Amino acid sequence: MKATFDYKDCQICPQDCGVNRLIGEKGFCNTGMELSVSSVVTHKGEEPVISGDKGICNVFFGHCNLQCLYCQNHQISRNVNHFDHKDLDLIKVTQQIVRRLKTGITHLGFVSPSHVPLQMKMIINSVRAEQFDPVIVYNSNGYDGLQTLKTLEPDIDIYLPDFKYADNELSLQYSGAGDYVENVVKSISEMIAQKGELKLNGYGLASNGVIIRHLVLPGHIQNSIDVLRIIAKEFGTSIHLSLMAQYYPMQAIKEYPNMSRILNPIEYDQVLEELEKLGFENGWVQELESNSNYLPDFEKEEPFERN
Ligand code: SF4
Repeated sequence: MKATFDYKDCQICPQDCGVNRLIGEKGFCNTGMELSVSSVVTHKGEEPVISGDKGICNVFFGHCNLQCLYCQNHQISRNVNHFDHKDLDLIKVTQQIVRRLKTGITHLGFVSPSHVPLQMKMIINSVRAEQFDPVIVYNSNGYDGLQTLKTLEPDIDIYLPDFKYADNELSLQYSGAGDYVENVVKSISEMIAQKGELKLNGYGLASNGVIIRHLVLPGHIQNSIDVLRIIAKEFGTSIHLSLMAQYYPMQAIKEYPNMSRILNPIEYDQVLEELEKLGFENGWVQELESNSNYLPDFEKEEPFERN
């Protein structure tokens, strides 16, 4: 039997809303059956093995199955407002991707796809029908449905999940999910079971495997230390890890005193010390100065380009 996604009693992600998206009911993610693509961009700011020299072609979906108050993509990820879809239908999205792949870009990434796996699969199939076979990167918040991941297995080459929290009270407060920790462990376990550790091609670019990302939050250093400890215990220290320091306080988080500022060097050093103590062998550590370099503006045609 062909595996598919059940949008009728939606349990696509761990929010388990049970709504019938086929008839227009909306759950936590406020997304129905529409393609829900916000932007197709060339992005050079990912890990070097993902971006390479030419960048990755990233497809950004609108809305999200988490609602992180500090999300840098808040213009498109908020579920309360309808973002501007810019009339991106499947034909236009495919054209924009193919135009970029023709320039020699080899990686096609999907950002925040956890609530729209069928839409993502339609785009992948459409690109393949144009005789392109890019490396597919699934770039999620880590709060993914297990069955959804199993169904996606044949289509994905690289999983690029976040591991945001080691504390469900924090994940509930800042992201709207009170069961994040157990679910992110399950999701990443499945990803690793499918793809194993990261492999590179002859050009030094990632071809297959898993990279875990963790964004260090100001005022929550113990959370980061605990996240690193869980990763080491559950997945081992040879996993590729990307430690990120680019946190920048967005408007929605400014009422939380700890989170209304950028990370300071003393905090970041504590996390780096733990990283070293645990003995992680592979990955990347972002410079602390990165915090305003990565803020996209989705009002622009190229959200990551500086004027
Ligand atoms: S995909 Fe959306 S509707 Fe479905 S369970 Fe997740 S948040 Fe709810």
